[in-house]
Amino acid sequence: MSQSSTRDSLKTIGEFGLIRQLKQQWSTSSPWIVKGIGDDAAILKTRQGQQLLISTDVFIEGVHFDLASQAPKDVGWRAGVANLSDVAAMGGSPLYLLVSMAVPVRIPPKNIRELYRGLKDACAPCHVELIGGDTSSSPSHMFLSLTIVGSVRANRALTRHGAEVGDHIYVTGTVGDSNAGLRILQTRSNNLRRFSPSTAEKFLIRRHVRPTPRIRIGRLLVDRKLAHAAIDLSDGLSSDVGHVCEESQVGVEIRGKALPLSSQLRAFARQNNLDPMELALQGGEDYELLFTAPAKHHQKVLNVSRQTKVPISCIGEIKPKTFGQQLELPEGRKQKLAKKSFNHFGNR
Ligand code: ADP
Ligand code: MG
Repeated sequence: MSQSSTRDSLKTIGEFGLIRQLKQQWSTSSPWIVKGIGDDAAILKTRQGQQLLISTDVFIEGVHFDLASQAPKDVGWRAGVANLSDVAAMGGSPLYLLVSMAVPVRIPPKNIRELYRGLKDACAPCHVELIGGDTSSSPSHMFLSLTIVGSVRANRALTRHGAEVGDHIYVTGTVGDSNAGLRILQTRSNNLRRFSPSTAEKFLIRRHVRPTPRIRIGRLLVDRKLAHAAIDLSDGLSSDVGHVCEESQVGVEIRGKALPLSSQLRAFARQNNLDPMELALQGGEDYELLFTAPAKHHQKVLNVSRQTKVPISCIGEIKPKTFGQQLELPEGRKQKLAKKSFNHFGNR
């Protein structure tokens, strides 16, 4: 170990040295922050006519990320986007971030700083400020918890419970890419030497490692009062649309043919003898938005797509609860919408 890396160890710099470095790396300038990092609590000014959105997520080494095979920067980016996307799904603007972590002493501070760099990069386009957190040692695995504070026009947040019978169901971007990207990365870690990804595979890996939060679309849906309900795609499309149905007490019909699939996903599915529609329905972590809107707003929804240069596709319709949750297969047959997405405790 070189001298500089010996000096740059958690044992040497300690908890407060690490916090100081992280604070320096992400200095704040917002006039809305009265006091950021450094006191027992942050002090924030409140904004008239706005409501706060607060959401938290945990990321556990060995469950959500693997520092042996993933760059710390990418881990930070994905964790950040998972948080930002929750605010996007409510139609809000992300403002502040709190980062709590428990770190095994073996992890070099450089890796923590890189993880924060990825987080900061993900937050930069929406000017999110780091306002606090907590730091602890951990006996074996790294643990990360992010709390995002956002803001939305009072009483206009998009929820999971607003969907109405007859609404169109829309999804942004393309779906299933992240699932395919993860599969490619898993294959790579099993046979390291033979891996040289094609252009399509690189695209899919990037979609997994560097997802994009759809903040601007969420905000436009709120500003223009277009959507009745929204959710971000984190568990998998079929599960996530199921959450909207349960909260809204409605049924759904998804048209398999209408799912927006990238050409790269189709190529990957062909090569690996997989069904691209299944990859799109069951794959998680796309962080695209799924929302419902009355049919009369169709043109205005397409305008949002044109303005943001992000595809928005109508993939089905909200039905009465008695209809259940159904999938229309490309050949026209209908079947129950199956859910195979990841569930931490195994049950559904
Ligand atoms: P306390 O003893 O009240 O928990 P700390 O000494 O842990 O306070 O934290 C000091 C300051 O540093 C606080 O403002 C806290 O929010 C901030 N902080 C601690 N850990 C982190 C972290 N990992 N990322 C960002 N800010 C942090
Ligand atoms: Mg503390």
